[in-house]
Amino acid sequence: MSDKTGAKVESSDTTATTACILCECNCGIEITLDGRRFDRIHGDEQHPASQGYTCQKALRLDHYQNNPDRITSPLRRRFDGTYEEIDWSTAVEEIAARLAAVRDTYGGDKIFFYGGGGQGNHLGGMYGAALQAAVGAKYYSNAIAQEKTGEFWVDGKLYGGHTKGDFAQSEVAVFVGKNPWQSHSFPRARPTLKQIARDPDRSMIVLDPRRSETAKMADFHLQVRSGTDAWCLAALLAVLVRDDLIDHEFIAEHTSGSDAVLAALREVPISDYAQRCGVPEELIRSAAHRIGTASSVATYEDLGTQQGPHSTLVSYLNKLIWILTGNFGEPGTMFLHSSLIPLTGPPQSNGPECTPNLLRDKASRLLTMAFAATASRVGKLVSALAGRRTTASVTDRTAKAVLDAVATRAAAVAPVIAPGGTEKYTLVTKAPIIAGLVPCNLITEEILTDHPDRLRAMWIDANNPAHSLADSPQWRRAMRALDLSVVIDVAMTETARLADYVLPASSQFEKWEASFFNFEFPHNVFQLRAPVLDPLPGTLSEPEIYARVIRALGAAPDSPDPVSNPARSCSRPS
Ligand code: SF4
Repeated sequence: MSDKTGAKVESSDTTATTACILCECNCGIEITLDGRRFDRIHGDEQHPASQGYTCQKALRLDHYQNNPDRITSPLRRRFDGTYEEIDWSTAVEEIAARLAAVRDTYGGDKIFFYGGGGQGNHLGGMYGAALQAAVGAKYYSNAIAQEKTGEFWVDGKLYGGHTKGDFAQSEVAVFVGKNPWQSHSFPRARPTLKQIARDPDRSMIVLDPRRSETAKMADFHLQVRSGTDAWCLAALLAVLVRDDLIDHEFIAEHTSGSDAVLAALREVPISDYAQRCGVPEELIRSAAHRIGTASSVATYEDLGTQQGPHSTLVSYLNKLIWILTGNFGEPGTMFLHSSLIPLTGPPQSNGPECTPNLLRDKASRLLTMAFAATASRVGKLVSALAGRRTTASVTDRTAKAVLDAVATRAAAVAPVIAPGGTEKYTLVTKAPIIAGLVPCNLITEEILTDHPDRLRAMWIDANNPAHSLADSPQWRRAMRALDLSVVIDVAMTETARLADYVLPASSQFEKWEASFFNFEFPHNVFQLRAPVLDPLPGTLSEPEIYARVIRALGAAPDSPDPVSNPARSCSRPS
């Protein structure tokens, strides 16, 4: 079976089991192939997390896979801004030479790395970390630093981890600047929202200026004036404290410094704050009483508030909802989730050492359980992989060897993935680095300056910052002010159109990949995915691209045993 490019489908089996790669849920899907075209897509009933569920976005994955803008050759920018195709050897040699020139002239820390895979596209990130180490790069960021680092900072100060909610079982679900009907973020979001809305014993509270799809389903829509979320949350917390709806035992056992917090909340002028945020005081009081009398509460804050004013304060106040009411570590409440590999550095890498003085003992016990649950799930999935309908079948031994290799490498490079873990502030603006990530809105200021320590080169992997970050015109100026810019991507994005070199990657369905956004508890899923198709001719997987550049730099180790030994023990996929 082949398409017009001559690439062949690996198997006569036309059904492939894989995952949607469009959001962090990574729902399991089955694809029916027509040559290289995705003819039909439906949910994988056997997927342990999504259980057959998909939203409508997954049904259009052929647009990603077979987009006419796919790139099939390395591209080099000409002086007039047009691009010419070059072969891989030329691209790799020239890029390596120019990276080395920047490193040797200005220092490797002036080479900035951004991105490192999309949703479910993270295996190559470890090789990206190897290139960062090879050139001595220290500064890194990705889209998470556009909105999530404020929450990470609060997480780090409060308890040294990241929390999520068990919405499948919560009696009360609270969404702050979040519309999970569209943006999901937890497994089977739409069926879960429908179940909460239908159940008279459960309630949904939405804090959003907009009457979103989720807000329309809510029992309490706190329709704040835009940018006033903090006043609304403070008023709600004040009601919890003054009407004694808090969990004194939990607070006494698991927190320190609560007296000052409770005293401050008792002073909140509830009526005044209700007026400021534009939400009727009685509605705030009713929502607070619903939270304070529920057997379980889970909360979720997201971009709607995290890209607004006072977002870090909003994160703190949002977390106080479940901390003051003791909604932690039980079904339907909040949890410190497990994950196979951390995708960022520690929650906070600037400021004083984090002392997780809250929930420490309970969290430690739960994390141990979470790790065991994850390990067991991984084992089952790896075993199941051999018998599943993938176009490239693997043996148990192969899958286990791959997993061992990945886990070993992950453990070795985890601190390198977030190099900012050792750097506390950026070079030019001296901005704090949180979770190893340079604040996105300051990246262009680290370039467009005559400061001697300004960034001189940028390596962008599977991200499109010139389009997705604030101030695109500024990004266009910054990209062209660099001595060197390299983009790895599957298509000619807005950012790729500004780069000196564009390197075409194989799609997520053309290589081995994995889903690392596994943020659930206690049932967590890591999915190692076999390729569905051969790589599109002219493309390479990210690990191969990184390996070639590292070799061209002369930075490959003499004895790569930690990588080559597991690889040698793998049998070839049949
Ligand atoms: S919820 Fe996310 S992962 Fe699942 S089908 Fe929709 S976009 Fe894909």
